Amino acid sequence: MKKLKSLLLVGAALLLSATAYAKPNIYILATGGTIAGTGVSSTQTNYHAGGVAIQTLIEAVPAMTEIANITGEQVVNIGSQDMTTDVWLTLANRINELLADPNVDGIVVTHGTDTMEETAYFLNLTVKSNKPVVLTGAMRASTAISADGPLNLYNSVCTAADPASRDKGVLICMNGIILPAHGTVKMNTVDVQTFQAPNSGPLGYLFNSKVYYNDITLKRHTTKSVFDVKGLKELPKVGIVYSYADIDADVMEPYFTGGYKGVVHAGLGNGNYHKNLFPSLLKARENGILVVRSSRVPTGPTTLDNEVDDAAYQFVASYELNPQKARILLMLALTKTDDWQQIQQYFLEY
Ligand code: ASP
Repeated sequence: MKKLKSLLLVGAALLLSATAYAKPNIYILATGGTIAGTGVSSTQTNYHAGGVAIQTLIEAVPAMTEIANITGEQVVNIGSQDMTTDVWLTLANRINELLADPNVDGIVVTHGTDTMEETAYFLNLTVKSNKPVVLTGAMRASTAISADGPLNLYNSVCTAADPASRDKGVLICMNGIILPAHGTVKMNTVDVQTFQAPNSGPLGYLFNSKVYYNDITLKRHTTKSVFDVKGLKELPKVGIVYSYADIDADVMEPYFTGGYKGVVHAGLGNGNYHKNLFPSLLKARENGILVVRSSRVPTGPTTLDNEVDDAAYQFVASYELNPQKARILLMLALTKTDDWQQIQQYFLEY
C-alpha cells in the first residue's frame, strides 16, 4: 500500500512538472515580404519579396523549437506593398479562429515591412483575444549576408510564447525591440533599425531569448475593441489626400464619383489644409463623406481646437494616428456609424 502511494505521488509530480514545462503552441502565419525574399546574390540587394515558403523559414531557425511547438501556415506570399483589405480580413478571421482554440497560445505573423504597421494596427482593432499576436519581418532578404529575418523570427516566437505578452495588444518585434501596433511607424527605407514608435516609445526588448517589458499601451485594442470583422466581405472605401504648397482642388475629384465613404487628409503642421482644398473638404462633408484631419508631419498629434474649427465643419482630428493608420480606424469606424462625433470619440480612444 505504502509503495503504491509513493508510486502515485511520483506519477503526480512527473505529470505536474510536464505540464509546468509544456512548451507553448505557436502558429506562424506567413504572408511574404523580404523575410521570405531571395536576392540575386548574398551581397546585392536586388531581390524579390515573397517566394520562400513558411516551412523553409521555420527550418532556417531550428532554435525556435526549443521555445515552442511551431506550426506554420502560408496565408499569402506577397510583397507587402501589394497588401489588400481582403488579406487583412482573412488574417483577422484566421487568427480569431486559432486563438479561440485553448491549445493555441500565440501567433506570429511574418510580413513585409512596407505595410507592416498598417496590418498590425488593423489586427490590433479586430483580434478578439488577449493572447499574443506578434508581427515580424526583415529588411534584408533571406539570402543576404547578415540577414535579419532569422533572429527577428526567433525573437518573435520568444515574444509570442511569453505569457507576459498577453493583454498588450498586437505587437511588432523587429531588431530586438517590441513595439505597440498603435504607434509604430516604418522610419527608414533601408536600415535594419527601421521600426520606431516616435510618440510613445517601445514596450520592451529581448536579450538572450528573454523578453523584458517596461511599458504598456493605454489605447483600446483587441478584447476592448468594439470592431468586429466576422462575416464582413469588404470595408468602406476610404482614401488619403496628401497636402502640399499650392495644391490644386482637383485631387479631390475622385472622392465625389468613386464611392468613397471617407477621406483622410494628410495635412500640413497640426492637420492644416491649404485654402485651395478647403471648399472640397467642406463639399465632401455635404456629400456625407467623413473627413479626418491627420498630418504629414511624422511626430506629434493632430489635435482638435488648434487652427481649425472642427466642430463648425464636422471634421475629425486623428490625434496620434498617422494618415495610413487613421485610414484603417476610419474604415472600421464606418462599419459602425457615420456619426462624426462618435467617430471623433473613436479617434480619442483607439
Ligand atoms: N517590399 C518589401 C515588403 O514590404 C519590403 C520588406 O519586406 O522589407 O514586402
